[in-house]
Amino acid sequence: MKKILAIHTGGTISMSQNEKGEVVPNAENPIAQQETIMEGRVELITDELFNLPSPHVTPVEMLKIKQCINQGEREGIDGVVITHGTDTLEETAYFLDLTLPSTIPVIVTGAMRSSNEVGSDGLYNFQTAIEVAADDASRGNGVMVVMNDEIHTARYVTKTHTTNVATFRTPTFGPIGLVAKGHPIYFQQLIREDICDIDHVVDHVYLLKAYAGMDASLFDALNSDQTAGIVIEGLGAGNLPPVTLPAIQRLLDRNIPLVLVSRCYNGVAEDIYDYQGGGIELRKMGLMLCQGLNGQKARIKLLVGLSAGLRGDRLAEYLSTAVS
Ligand code: ASP
Repeated sequence: MKKILAIHTGGTISMSQNEKGEVVPNAENPIAQQETIMEGRVELITDELFNLPSPHVTPVEMLKIKQCINQGEREGIDGVVITHGTDTLEETAYFLDLTLPSTIPVIVTGAMRSSNEVGSDGLYNFQTAIEVAADDASRGNGVMVVMNDEIHTARYVTKTHTTNVATFRTPTFGPIGLVAKGHPIYFQQLIREDICDIDHVVDHVYLLKAYAGMDASLFDALNSDQTAGIVIEGLGAGNLPPVTLPAIQRLLDRNIPLVLVSRCYNGVAEDIYDYQGGGIELRKMGLMLCQGLNGQKARIKLLVGLSAGLRGDRLAEYLSTAVS
């Protein structure tokens, strides 16, 4: 029988709706009491690592989850399911994907409706995630997000709807598999990225979103010795208003790594445009283009790379391998 480690971290999947219709955390996590849902099919080992709404989760908690999985692997587990709030689920999933050397299935799941709401999706998603984690076909696929009968890569999945149960989507590339009556069916595979098996996380890695009329003030506000790196969600294929360029140059002069992605929902950032503030000029200035990742994922990748001690060309190479 497969041994599956279930790590509970909080989120709507562990919350309940009160008599006023407000969704609130519980002292006792109801999803953690569900050890018997796969009785006779898997051995479920439960770890209630923490119980936080996911906007309270930081890279420090992400590292704790990674270390909990490392420990479980030393003890011989065959797969992992993590329950997590959906707001920052994609960031935790990608952090684990970048930092876990394991080939055992690691599945992250959550819920859009809390445990006592009509049509609650928590228990269903939890059970499906366990089934995917226990299936041999799931080995070596990197960290995956299983929600609503779909299997997405941690690298490209994103939350697209505030309340709908079909919120997790993979723009541009699509999901890598489906779950049909408890069985995963895979139809795509990702090439794995470099793994950085880090033991600490750096702070002060920021994310800025470009907009029409953006000026230099946000860039100047981050121009300090403390800033470790900045990801910029550029316009379209990866362009910025020209008025931002002097402030960007001041950040580069301070050796602050700057990463450029697109604020578009679909597509990848590329150096296509040769006008002032266009991607070609930004690349020549020294911005690192990170293709295919959204801003929050690129920020996690930059943070992991910096935490692993990568700098200069090695950091640029690491950040440029998202699409392979
Ligand atoms: N706000 C919740 C959280 O991320 C949303 C959810 O879990 O679905 O904790």
